[in-house]
Amino acid sequence: MILILQADVDKAGEDYQQLIAFIAHLGNIQSRIHEERGTQQVLTEIYLVGDTAALSAEEMQSFTCVERVVRVSEEYRILGRHHDDQRPTFFDYNGVRFGQDNLNIFAGLCAVDTPTHVEAMMRALQQHGQACTRLGAYKPRTNPYSFQGHGKRCLPYVFELAGKYDINVIAMEVTHDNHVREIHEALDQTGHPTGVMLQIGTRNTQNFELLKAIGREPEFPVLLKRGFGITLEESLNAAEYLASEGNRRVVFGLRGMKTNMGDPHRNFIDFAHVPVVHRLTRMPVCIDPSHSVGSREATHDGIMDVFHVTAQGVIAGANMVLVDFHPNPGKALVDGPQALHMDELGYFFEDIGIARAAYEKRVALAGRFAGMDYS
Ligand code: PEP
Ligand code: MN
Repeated sequence: MILILQADVDKAGEDYQQLIAFIAHLGNIQSRIHEERGTQQVLTEIYLVGDTAALSAEEMQSFTCVERVVRVSEEYRILGRHHDDQRPTFFDYNGVRFGQDNLNIFAGLCAVDTPTHVEAMMRALQQHGQACTRLGAYKPRTNPYSFQGHGKRCLPYVFELAGKYDINVIAMEVTHDNHVREIHEALDQTGHPTGVMLQIGTRNTQNFELLKAIGREPEFPVLLKRGFGITLEESLNAAEYLASEGNRRVVFGLRGMKTNMGDPHRNFIDFAHVPVVHRLTRMPVCIDPSHSVGSREATHDGIMDVFHVTAQGVIAGANMVLVDFHPNPGKALVDGPQALHMDELGYFFEDIGIARAAYEKRVALAGRFAGMDYS
């Protein structure tokens, strides 16, 4: 059960104190208080875990400091969508809104290689009015002899260039909680010219200690990729690990599954799960067409598979697109062959615009037909 308290509740107030005392005397129930400090107000929620079935929602509601009571099922207690759940399906970070109702595109380099390439990428993004990008400094590689990313050495120039080109959010994979500390240090050193969304890659979806550490992270939101060889339920539980430790600003990323049935794509595309994740949880959903398709193959209609699957995800309501671009793919140190080219940026955005407009029309159409009796 979740008790959503009045905004800016007075923790010294009599009613709040009575509520806390009441909860303390409930048998077999543990409580955890979660505070969300927004720019305007502080929102407080109390999670009651344990034998909550016998608790009366009305009784909880009778405390004036309690605004709403949500009964949650066992699954995805914090990030899930539950019966009569009015909790928000969005969050804001560094001036960018991430919600189940909007769309952000994160085009960028799979891996940071040179300052020149990073700058070319950011300049092009600014020219197209984009505020987000993807850039890998810590690369999890299959082969230990492959380029592992420049790590903390590249962070200062990456962040400074982001500030120069008005990039508000960089999605950056971390594979160890030390990386989060290094990102904090580099942002402090450069005067916070940009923001970072910590990316947890598919190889770490069930790295529970990493999830717990990043869950305790108060500053950065998280993009959690679905595990490529586990069930959707297992991956959604991984997201819940982040939230259970306190970080609920989580975007859930679909990036394809490892199975030969996906051949000749690098992975079996799973973007049909966009609406499923929307239905089960309150998380915005990201799609990664680059790592799922893994090539620039096009078909006779002249459209690359990367564009086709992006459109398929967007027309199903995806909220974020993470996509590899490179100013000189032949020189890219990671995933050059799947990267889109700088002169394809405008085409990519326009194609996404078509799919997004079609999605919005489909939602309006569904609204018109809602409640009709087809029996
Ligand atoms: C990436 O986005 O750079 C990446 C390695 O993705 P994934 O974890 O989905 O393989
Ligand atoms: Mn890659």
